[in-house]
Amino acid sequence: MSGVKLFTVRGIAVKMHVTFPLILVWAAVQFGYLNQRGFSLSGAAFGIVITLLLFICVVIHELAHSLTATAMGFPVRDIVLLPLGGIAQMERMPERPGQEFLMAIAGPLSNVVIAVLLVVGGLLFGLDVRPRMDLARLGWKDTLPYLIATNLGLAVFNLIPAFPMDGGRVLRALLATVMPHARATALAVSVGQGLAWMLGLMGLLSGNFLWILIAFFVYAGAAQEGQLIHVKNVLQGLRVRQAFSRHALSLSPDDPVSRATDLTLESFQADFPVCDAEQLVGLLTHTDVLRALKQRRPDTPVREVMRTKFPTIGLDDGLFEAHRQMTEAGLDALPVMEGEQFLGLLTRRDVNEVYQLLSVSPELLTQRRGV
Ligand SMILES: [Zn+2]
Repeated sequence: MSGVKLFTVRGIAVKMHVTFPLILVWAAVQFGYLNQRGFSLSGAAFGIVITLLLFICVVIHELAHSLTATAMGFPVRDIVLLPLGGIAQMERMPERPGQEFLMAIAGPLSNVVIAVLLVVGGLLFGLDVRPRMDLARLGWKDTLPYLIATNLGLAVFNLIPAFPMDGGRVLRALLATVMPHARATALAVSVGQGLAWMLGLMGLLSGNFLWILIAFFVYAGAAQEGQLIHVKNVLQGLRVRQAFSRHALSLSPDDPVSRATDLTLESFQADFPVCDAEQLVGLLTHTDVLRALKQRRPDTPVREVMRTKFPTIGLDDGLFEAHRQMTEAGLDALPVMEGEQFLGLLTRRDVNEVYQLLSVSPELLTQRRGV
Protein backbone atom coordinates (compact mmCIF):
# COMPACT_ATOMS: atom_id res chain seq x y z
CA MET A 1 0.00 0.00 0.00
CA SER A 2 1.46 3.33 -0.99
CA GLY A 3 0.68 6.94 -0.29
CA VAL A 4 1.95 10.49 -0.14
CA LYS A 5 4.78 10.89 2.37
CA LEU A 6 4.01 13.41 5.10
CA PHE A 7 7.03 13.14 7.40
CA THR A 8 9.52 10.66 8.83
CA VAL A 9 10.05 9.62 12.45
CA ARG A 10 13.28 7.71 13.17
CA GLY A 11 13.41 6.36 9.65
CA ILE A 12 9.71 5.39 9.56
CA ALA A 13 7.84 7.25 6.83
CA VAL A 14 4.32 8.37 7.74
CA LYS A 15 2.24 8.38 4.55
CA MET A 16 -1.24 9.46 3.64
CA HIS A 17 -3.22 7.14 1.37
CA VAL A 18 -4.89 8.93 -1.57
CA THR A 19 -8.31 8.09 -0.10
CA PHE A 20 -7.48 9.72 3.25
CA PRO A 21 -8.92 13.20 2.40
CA LEU A 22 -12.33 11.48 2.05
CA ILE A 23 -12.64 11.29 5.84
CA LEU A 24 -12.04 15.06 6.06
CA VAL A 25 -14.76 15.71 3.49
CA TRP A 26 -17.06 13.37 5.41
CA ALA A 27 -16.26 15.17 8.70
CA ALA A 28 -16.86 18.61 7.14
CA VAL A 29 -20.26 17.54 5.82
CA GLN A 30 -21.20 15.63 8.98
CA PHE A 31 -20.35 18.46 11.37
CA GLY A 32 -21.33 21.21 8.94
CA TYR A 33 -24.96 20.10 8.99
CA LEU A 34 -24.99 19.27 12.71
CA ASN A 35 -27.73 20.84 14.90
CA GLN A 36 -28.14 23.64 12.39
CA ARG A 37 -30.85 24.28 9.89
CA GLY A 38 -28.47 24.93 7.04
CA PHE A 39 -24.77 24.40 6.44
CA SER A 40 -22.48 25.94 9.05
CA LEU A 41 -18.92 26.80 8.05
CA SER A 42 -17.78 26.85 11.67
CA GLY A 43 -19.25 23.38 12.15
CA ALA A 44 -17.45 22.08 9.06
CA ALA A 45 -14.15 23.60 10.23
CA PHE A 46 -14.67 21.99 13.64
CA GLY A 47 -15.26 18.62 11.94
CA ILE A 48 -12.00 18.90 10.01
CA VAL A 49 -9.94 20.07 13.00
CA ILE A 50 -11.32 17.40 15.34
CA THR A 51 -10.68 14.68 12.74
CA LEU A 52 -7.11 15.86 12.17
CA LEU A 53 -6.50 15.91 15.94
CA LEU A 54 -7.93 12.40 16.15
CA PHE A 55 -5.57 11.26 13.41
CA ILE A 56 -2.60 12.71 15.26
CA CYS A 57 -3.58 10.30 18.04
CA VAL A 58 -3.84 7.47 15.49
CA VAL A 59 -0.33 8.30 14.23
CA ILE A 60 0.97 8.22 17.82
CA HIS A 61 -0.76 4.83 18.28
CA GLU A 62 0.92 3.40 15.15
CA LEU A 63 4.26 4.97 16.07
CA ALA A 64 4.02 3.32 19.50
CA HIS A 65 3.69 -0.09 17.78
CA SER A 66 6.41 0.75 15.27
CA LEU A 67 9.01 2.16 17.65
CA THR A 68 8.52 -0.81 20.00
CA ALA A 69 9.01 -3.12 17.03
CA THR A 70 12.15 -1.39 15.74
CA ALA A 71 13.58 -1.29 19.27
CA MET A 72 13.31 -5.10 19.31
CA GLY A 73 14.93 -5.38 15.89
CA PHE A 74 11.88 -5.70 13.64
CA PRO A 75 12.05 -3.16 10.81
CA VAL A 76 8.92 -1.15 10.00
CA ARG A 77 8.62 0.04 6.42
CA ASP A 78 6.07 2.80 6.84
CA ILE A 79 2.81 3.89 8.41
CA VAL A 80 -0.08 4.50 6.03
CA LEU A 81 -3.08 6.58 7.05
CA LEU A 82 -6.41 5.39 5.65
CA PRO A 83 -9.82 7.01 6.16
CA LEU A 84 -10.68 4.49 8.90
CA GLY A 85 -7.33 4.33 10.68
CA GLY A 86 -3.63 3.68 10.30
CA ILE A 87 -1.57 0.63 9.34
CA ALA A 88 2.07 0.07 10.25
CA GLN A 89 3.56 -2.04 7.45
CA MET A 90 6.19 -4.40 8.80
CA GLU A 91 8.62 -6.63 7.00
CA ARG A 92 8.19 -9.39 9.55
CA MET A 93 6.28 -9.75 12.77
CA PRO A 94 7.73 -10.74 16.13
CA GLU A 95 6.74 -14.29 17.03
CA ARG A 96 8.14 -14.67 20.51
CA PRO A 97 5.13 -14.18 22.83
CA GLY A 98 6.87 -11.55 24.96
CA GLN A 99 7.82 -9.46 21.94
CA GLU A 100 4.41 -9.79 20.29
CA PHE A 101 2.73 -8.80 23.56
CA LEU A 102 4.86 -5.66 23.96
CA MET A 103 4.42 -4.61 20.37
CA ALA A 104 0.64 -5.13 20.42
CA ILE A 105 -0.02 -3.50 23.78
CA ALA A 106 2.11 -0.41 22.97
CA GLY A 107 -0.57 1.04 20.66
CA PRO A 108 -3.58 1.02 23.00
CA LEU A 109 -1.31 1.98 25.88
CA SER A 110 -0.23 5.13 24.02
CA ASN A 111 -3.89 6.22 23.77
CA VAL A 112 -4.38 5.69 27.52
CA VAL A 113 -1.27 7.83 28.12
CA ILE A 114 -2.60 10.57 25.82
CA ALA A 115 -5.97 10.53 27.62
CA VAL A 116 -4.29 10.77 31.03
CA LEU A 117 -2.05 13.63 29.87
CA LEU A 118 -5.05 15.50 28.44
CA VAL A 119 -6.98 15.05 31.70
CA VAL A 120 -4.03 16.24 33.79
CA GLY A 121 -3.35 19.17 31.43
CA GLY A 122 -7.04 20.10 31.38
CA LEU A 123 -7.30 20.02 35.17
CA LEU A 124 -4.20 22.23 35.49
CA PHE A 125 -5.88 24.83 33.29
CA GLY A 126 -9.24 24.38 35.03
CA LEU A 127 -10.98 23.00 31.92
CA ASP A 128 -13.86 20.56 31.70
CA VAL A 129 -12.34 17.12 31.21
CA ARG A 130 -15.36 14.81 31.54
CA PRO A 131 -15.18 12.56 28.46
CA ARG A 132 -17.94 13.34 25.93
CA MET A 133 -18.72 11.67 22.64
CA ASP A 134 -22.25 12.88 22.01
CA LEU A 135 -21.72 13.85 18.37
CA ALA A 136 -25.09 15.59 18.05
CA ARG A 137 -24.18 18.32 20.53
CA LEU A 138 -20.46 18.69 19.94
CA GLY A 139 -18.91 22.14 19.53
CA TRP A 140 -15.51 23.85 19.83
CA LYS A 141 -15.70 23.89 23.66
CA ASP A 142 -15.98 20.09 23.68
CA THR A 143 -12.68 19.51 21.85
CA LEU A 144 -10.79 18.35 24.94
CA PRO A 145 -13.55 16.10 26.39
CA TYR A 146 -14.06 14.61 22.93
CA LEU A 147 -10.34 13.86 22.44
CA ILE A 148 -10.17 12.26 25.90
CA ALA A 149 -13.21 10.12 25.09
CA THR A 150 -11.95 9.04 21.66
CA ASN A 151 -8.51 8.10 22.98
CA LEU A 152 -10.11 5.93 25.66
CA GLY A 153 -12.41 4.57 22.96
CA LEU A 154 -9.45 3.78 20.68
CA ALA A 155 -7.71 1.93 23.52
CA VAL A 156 -10.79 -0.15 24.39
CA PHE A 157 -11.73 -0.84 20.75
CA ASN A 158 -8.23 -1.99 19.85
CA LEU A 159 -8.08 -4.26 22.88
CA ILE A 160 -11.08 -6.34 21.72
CA PRO A 161 -9.46 -9.79 21.86
CA ALA A 162 -9.91 -10.59 18.16
CA PHE A 163 -7.64 -10.46 15.14
CA PRO A 164 -6.90 -8.13 13.43
CA MET A 165 -7.23 -5.92 16.53
CA ASP A 166 -4.25 -5.46 18.82
CA GLY A 167 -6.23 -7.36 21.46
CA GLY A 168 -6.12 -10.48 19.25
CA ARG A 169 -2.32 -10.37 19.28
CA VAL A 170 -2.26 -9.71 23.01
CA LEU A 171 -4.50 -12.75 23.56
CA ARG A 172 -2.39 -14.97 21.28
CA ALA A 173 0.81 -13.86 22.99
CA LEU A 174 -0.66 -14.65 26.43
CA LEU A 175 -1.94 -18.05 25.26
CA ALA A 176 1.38 -18.83 23.58
CA THR A 177 3.15 -18.67 26.93
CA VAL A 178 1.27 -21.81 28.03
CA MET A 179 0.75 -23.69 24.72
CA PRO A 180 2.35 -24.08 21.27
CA HIS A 181 2.16 -21.06 18.96
CA ALA A 182 -0.09 -22.76 16.41
CA ARG A 183 -2.63 -23.80 19.05
CA ALA A 184 -2.56 -20.35 20.63
CA THR A 185 -3.32 -18.84 17.21
CA ALA A 186 -6.14 -21.30 16.53
CA LEU A 187 -7.70 -20.52 19.91
CA ALA A 188 -7.31 -16.74 19.50
CA VAL A 189 -8.87 -17.01 16.03
CA SER A 190 -11.87 -18.92 17.47
CA VAL A 191 -12.34 -16.39 20.26
CA GLY A 192 -12.19 -13.55 17.72
CA GLN A 193 -14.70 -15.19 15.41
CA GLY A 194 -17.01 -15.97 18.33
CA LEU A 195 -16.92 -12.31 19.32
CA ALA A 196 -17.56 -11.29 15.73
CA TRP A 197 -20.69 -13.49 15.65
CA MET A 198 -21.93 -11.95 18.89
CA LEU A 199 -21.26 -8.42 17.68
CA GLY A 200 -22.94 -9.13 14.35
CA LEU A 201 -25.98 -10.59 16.10
CA MET A 202 -26.21 -7.62 18.46
CA GLY A 203 -25.92 -5.30 15.46
CA LEU A 204 -28.73 -7.15 13.67
CA LEU A 205 -31.02 -7.09 16.71
CA SER A 206 -30.42 -3.42 17.44
CA GLY A 207 -30.25 -2.35 13.81
CA ASN A 208 -26.75 -0.94 14.29
CA PHE A 209 -25.09 -1.35 10.91
CA LEU A 210 -21.71 -0.12 12.08
CA TRP A 211 -21.51 -3.11 14.46
CA ILE A 212 -22.40 -5.49 11.65
CA LEU A 213 -19.69 -3.94 9.51
CA ILE A 214 -17.11 -4.25 12.30
CA ALA A 215 -18.23 -7.85 12.90
CA PHE A 216 -17.53 -8.72 9.25
CA PHE A 217 -14.16 -6.98 9.41
CA VAL A 218 -13.17 -8.82 12.60
CA TYR A 219 -14.39 -12.19 11.30
CA ALA A 220 -12.45 -11.85 8.05
CA GLY A 221 -9.34 -10.59 9.86
CA ALA A 222 -9.39 -13.54 12.24
CA ALA A 223 -9.82 -16.01 9.39
CA GLN A 224 -6.94 -14.42 7.49
CA GLU A 225 -4.58 -14.65 10.46
CA GLY A 226 -5.54 -18.29 11.01
CA GLN A 227 -4.95 -19.05 7.34
CA LEU A 228 -1.60 -17.27 7.32
CA ILE A 229 -0.34 -19.27 10.29
CA HIS A 230 -1.61 -22.49 8.70
CA VAL A 231 0.20 -21.74 5.44
CA LYS A 232 3.30 -20.92 7.41
CA ASN A 233 3.17 -24.18 9.37
CA VAL A 234 2.70 -26.23 6.24
CA LEU A 235 5.38 -24.47 4.22
CA GLN A 236 7.89 -24.19 7.04
CA GLY A 237 11.14 -25.90 6.30
CA LEU A 238 10.46 -26.13 2.57
CA ARG A 239 12.78 -24.48 0.06
CA VAL A 240 12.23 -22.83 -3.30
CA ARG A 241 14.18 -25.64 -4.98
CA GLN A 242 11.43 -28.08 -3.95
CA ALA A 243 8.63 -26.21 -5.70
CA PHE A 244 9.80 -24.07 -8.62
CA SER A 245 9.46 -24.89 -12.34
CA ARG A 246 12.77 -25.44 -14.06
CA HIS A 247 11.10 -25.62 -17.44
CA ALA A 248 9.27 -22.32 -17.39
CA LEU A 249 8.87 -20.82 -20.86
CA SER A 250 10.69 -17.57 -21.44
CA LEU A 251 10.45 -14.74 -23.93
CA SER A 252 13.11 -12.79 -25.77
CA PRO A 253 13.13 -8.97 -25.54
CA ASP A 254 12.46 -8.81 -29.28
CA ASP A 255 9.40 -11.09 -29.23
CA PRO A 256 6.08 -9.37 -29.88
CA VAL A 257 3.76 -9.12 -26.88
CA SER A 258 1.26 -11.30 -28.71
CA ARG A 259 3.67 -14.22 -28.29
CA ALA A 260 2.96 -14.11 -24.57
CA THR A 261 -0.76 -14.64 -25.16
CA ASP A 262 -0.02 -17.46 -27.62
CA LEU A 263 2.15 -19.18 -25.03
CA THR A 264 -0.44 -18.66 -22.29
CA LEU A 265 -3.12 -20.28 -24.43
CA GLU A 266 -0.84 -23.23 -25.18
CA SER A 267 0.67 -23.77 -21.76
CA PHE A 268 -1.39 -21.95 -19.09
CA GLN A 269 1.77 -20.09 -18.04
CA ALA A 270 0.75 -16.47 -17.44
CA ASP A 271 3.96 -14.75 -16.31
CA PHE A 272 7.16 -14.88 -18.31
CA PRO A 273 10.82 -14.32 -17.59
CA VAL A 274 12.48 -12.35 -20.38
CA CYS A 275 15.92 -13.67 -21.29
CA ASP A 276 18.55 -12.29 -23.63
CA ALA A 277 21.08 -15.03 -24.42
CA GLU A 278 20.46 -16.95 -21.16
CA GLN A 279 20.69 -13.71 -19.18
CA LEU A 280 17.55 -12.64 -17.30
CA VAL A 281 16.73 -9.07 -18.36
CA GLY A 282 13.09 -8.63 -17.44
CA LEU A 283 9.78 -9.99 -16.25
CA LEU A 284 6.51 -9.81 -18.19
CA THR A 285 3.54 -10.48 -15.94
CA HIS A 286 0.01 -11.31 -17.00
CA THR A 287 -1.06 -7.80 -15.95
CA ASP A 288 1.72 -6.27 -18.08
CA VAL A 289 0.51 -8.28 -21.08
CA LEU A 290 -3.10 -7.22 -20.62
CA ARG A 291 -2.11 -3.58 -20.22
CA ALA A 292 0.14 -3.71 -23.29
CA LEU A 293 -2.58 -5.28 -25.44
CA LYS A 294 -5.05 -2.65 -24.34
CA GLN A 295 -2.82 0.37 -24.84
CA ARG A 296 -0.51 -0.70 -27.65
CA ARG A 297 -0.29 -2.90 -30.73
CA PRO A 298 0.09 -6.68 -30.40
CA ASP A 299 3.43 -6.50 -32.25
CA THR A 300 4.99 -4.18 -29.64
CA PRO A 301 8.31 -5.74 -28.64
CA VAL A 302 8.41 -7.27 -25.17
CA ARG A 303 11.38 -5.07 -24.17
CA GLU A 304 9.14 -1.99 -24.28
CA VAL A 305 6.51 -3.31 -21.90
CA MET A 306 8.38 -5.70 -19.59
CA ARG A 307 9.37 -4.67 -16.09
CA THR A 308 13.06 -4.45 -15.32
CA LYS A 309 12.78 -3.95 -11.57
CA PHE A 310 11.45 -6.95 -9.65
CA PRO A 311 12.59 -9.12 -6.77
CA THR A 312 14.24 -12.49 -7.42
CA ILE A 313 14.75 -15.43 -5.09
CA GLY A 314 17.43 -18.01 -4.48
CA LEU A 315 17.17 -21.81 -4.61
CA ASP A 316 17.55 -22.19 -0.88
CA ASP A 317 15.23 -19.39 0.20
CA GLY A 318 12.31 -20.56 2.31
CA LEU A 319 9.07 -21.19 0.44
CA PHE A 320 6.96 -19.25 2.92
CA GLU A 321 9.36 -16.32 2.67
CA ALA A 322 9.21 -16.47 -1.14
CA HIS A 323 5.41 -16.55 -1.01
CA ARG A 324 5.40 -13.51 1.27
CA GLN A 325 7.78 -11.64 -1.06
CA MET A 326 5.52 -12.42 -3.98
CA THR A 327 2.49 -11.07 -2.15
CA GLU A 328 4.36 -7.97 -1.05
CA ALA A 329 5.56 -7.21 -4.57
CA GLY A 330 2.05 -7.86 -5.93
CA LEU A 331 3.40 -10.52 -8.32
CA ASP A 332 2.25 -14.03 -9.17
CA ALA A 333 5.71 -15.26 -10.11
CA LEU A 334 9.33 -14.71 -9.12
CA PRO A 335 12.43 -15.64 -11.12
CA VAL A 336 14.69 -18.12 -9.30
CA MET A 337 18.39 -17.32 -9.48
CA GLU A 338 21.63 -18.90 -8.44
CA GLY A 339 24.06 -16.01 -8.39
CA GLU A 340 23.72 -14.42 -11.83
CA GLN A 341 22.30 -17.53 -13.41
CA PHE A 342 18.58 -17.74 -14.14
CA LEU A 343 17.20 -21.17 -13.23
CA GLY A 344 13.43 -20.99 -13.53
CA LEU A 345 10.24 -19.50 -12.19
CA LEU A 346 8.40 -19.90 -8.91
CA THR A 347 4.74 -19.14 -9.39
CA ARG A 348 1.93 -18.69 -6.92
CA ARG A 349 0.40 -21.80 -8.45
CA ASP A 350 3.55 -23.80 -7.64
CA VAL A 351 3.32 -22.70 -4.01
CA ASN A 352 -0.42 -23.40 -3.87
CA GLU A 353 0.09 -26.88 -5.28
CA VAL A 354 2.68 -27.75 -2.65
CA TYR A 355 0.47 -26.22 0.02
CA GLN A 356 -2.64 -28.15 -1.03
CA LEU A 357 -0.74 -31.39 -1.42
CA LEU A 358 0.79 -31.12 2.03
CA SER A 359 -2.47 -29.94 3.61
CA VAL A 360 -4.22 -33.16 2.60
CA SER A 361 -1.28 -35.50 3.14
CA PRO A 362 1.08 -34.07 5.74
CA GLU A 363 3.10 -37.32 5.74
CA LEU A 364 4.65 -36.07 2.50
CA LEU A 365 6.10 -33.26 4.52
CA THR A 366 8.76 -35.36 6.18
CA GLN A 367 9.89 -36.70 2.82
CA ARG A 368 9.89 -33.26 1.24
CA ARG A 369 11.80 -31.77 4.10
CA GLY A 370 14.42 -34.42 3.63
CA VAL A 371 15.20 -33.28 0.09
ZN1 LIG B 1 -2.87 -0.87 17.09
